[in-house]
Amino acid sequence: MGKKDKRQYAIIGLGRFGTSVASTLFRAGYEVLAIDADEERVQKFSDEVTHVVQADTTDEAALKSLGIRNFDTVVVAIGEDVQANILTTLLLKEIGVQYIVAKARNELHGKMLTKIGADKVIYPERDMGVRVAHNLVSTNVLDYIELSPNLSLVEVAAPRTIRGLSLAEANLRALYGVNVVAMKRGEQIIVPPQPDEKIGDHDILIVVGSTAGVQKLEELE
Ligand code: ATP
Repeated sequence: MGKKDKRQYAIIGLGRFGTSVASTLFRAGYEVLAIDADEERVQKFSDEVTHVVQADTTDEAALKSLGIRNFDTVVVAIGEDVQANILTTLLLKEIGVQYIVAKARNELHGKMLTKIGADKVIYPERDMGVRVAHNLVSTNVLDYIELSPNLSLVEVAAPRTIRGLSLAEANLRALYGVNVVAMKRGEQIIVPPQPDEKIGDHDILIVVGSTAGVQKLEELE
């Protein structure tokens, strides 16, 4: 997230997810407008971002008066009230917002959001569940992100069986169809690692590959 770029973001819905997205963007140097229908939440959040306003985003006139069209990206982080979430997304689309990100509660809700024009649909609860599950299955796994249905990125502590080998000797690409794109060694980040780089006892590997391949790597002791 570069500070030179002055992109403007609007975040609608200040639940745990919305506030976390809004403050992270603001701390990274972006201009952030946060919107919520609840006056109390708006008050609480007033020092955290560039602007906070109280508005019901299912009200088209209110939405337009905020100049929402001028924002590069609008995130719909309304959770519980699915109807408000969908209606807000629809209105944003009609108003002509360029890039709409919407939070979905489940697959069906996500499909609807895509149909009405959300450019990106996110499933925070599901994604967090998947990450926690991978972390429980293998103690080596530190983080896991599904990049697409069949492509995953995983951060794993170097499994014992490949410690002391070079990346070429470990041969992970041929064995599991995965690529080590970076290695963490304490504070040092080796990117991209060369084939002769030796895997140290405390190294952390950042690996991209097919979901099946990544899973096999996770199962290594
Ligand atoms: P999280 O899990 O992120 O905490 P949640 O799923 O519990 O979120 P909610 O608390 O239901 O999400 O919604 C987030 C916020 O969205 C609330 O603060 C709520 O006031 C706000 N919100 C709901 N409807 C609207 C609306 N029509 N316009 C603006 N904000 C709204």
